[in-house]
Amino acid sequence: MREISVTLGERTYPILIEAGSLNQIGERFLERFSIDSPVLVLTDDNVARIYLENVQVALEDAGFRSWDYVITAGETSKRLEVVSKVYDFLIEKKAPRGVIVVGLGGGVVGDITSFIASTYKRGVPYIALPTTLLAQVDSSVGGKTGVHHRGEKNVIGTIYQPQFVLIDTDCLSTLPKREFLAGMAEVVKQGAIKNPEFFAYLEHHYRDILNLEQDDLLKTVGDCCQLKSDVVAEDEFDERARHVLNYGHTVAHALEGLTGFRHYMHGEAVSIGMVAAAKVSLAVGKCSADDVVRQERLLRSIGLPTRLEKHFILQLLDHLYADKKRVGDEIMFVVCTGIGSADIWPVKPERLVELLSAI
Ligand code: ADP
Ligand code: ZN
Repeated sequence: MREISVTLGERTYPILIEAGSLNQIGERFLERFSIDSPVLVLTDDNVARIYLENVQVALEDAGFRSWDYVITAGETSKRLEVVSKVYDFLIEKKAPRGVIVVGLGGGVVGDITSFIASTYKRGVPYIALPTTLLAQVDSSVGGKTGVHHRGEKNVIGTIYQPQFVLIDTDCLSTLPKREFLAGMAEVVKQGAIKNPEFFAYLEHHYRDILNLEQDDLLKTVGDCCQLKSDVVAEDEFDERARHVLNYGHTVAHALEGLTGFRHYMHGEAVSIGMVAAAKVSLAVGKCSADDVVRQERLLRSIGLPTRLEKHFILQLLDHLYADKKRVGDEIMFVVCTGIGSADIWPVKPERLVELLSAI
């Protein structure tokens, strides 16, 4: 088992990574909790079909009383009505302050479950069991919780850290291919902004990862959690240090917004956004042509889209103006400053569109 510590003072917690670890969840619970604490496992209908029974049996074998609550898979479940129904359920069950709330699933389940855990009775223990690559390498580290409201993404939420995160890399074998590849975009991003050796490793081993070789999955997921937790530990509340994690995301968010969140999966948009950001970085003298080629080649070899369609570029302007990370009239654009390093480069939206049109 690989264990990574997310260092946040009193709220320091471990991420435990191992193939097959879901079956040992009972032991992990016994190490930390009393069997007097009831457990709520929240999951979605797809994940429930494959994994819920195993998790329930493992918990019950260890002596825990456990309830489950199954939501409909997909982003549309990320709303307060769904959260409210789970509160109803907890109250009907008379769930005490010690109730342990477990999120079994991808980013959607994680965001909702951690939000519920952070608010029910002013906060109860939360355990994350991420089952998608995106959730394992990205959304399960950092403590972001929340739901969408009135068409605004993640507008209601908190920062709340889990007691621990348990990652079972075997779950990735049932993940639809397109979901897996989309998760790989964030993996590549981590290497591109933080770690040149990891990026080079991906260039040599991406086929092994796509073939779900166990050692490569453990290394990839583990290294990404380590990289992200280093960034998060550096600056838990202040967004400055974290901001480089938004590499590729300015264009990605605009692209997702423009296409009504239907055409591209998040990771696919990030892949296109990273290549666009790399090309802009080259155009303004921040990185070399080779840095751009390596990112584009790796993403394309993995099977991710990298081309920013020309007709989108002019339409991007409105979305860039709406960018949440704007300071005054400038966007905090993340540029590549060589493989494994990134920096914040403030730029006016018009100038960015001009640069994107020329790439
Ligand atoms: P993400 O983690 O990418 O933000 P979601 O939480 O929406 O996304 O999960 C993506 C989809 O994959 C959902 O339909 C979910 O039910 C499904 N899913 C999650 N984990 C697995 C898994 N291990 N095997 C199969 N399907 C899964
Ligand atoms: Zn992202």
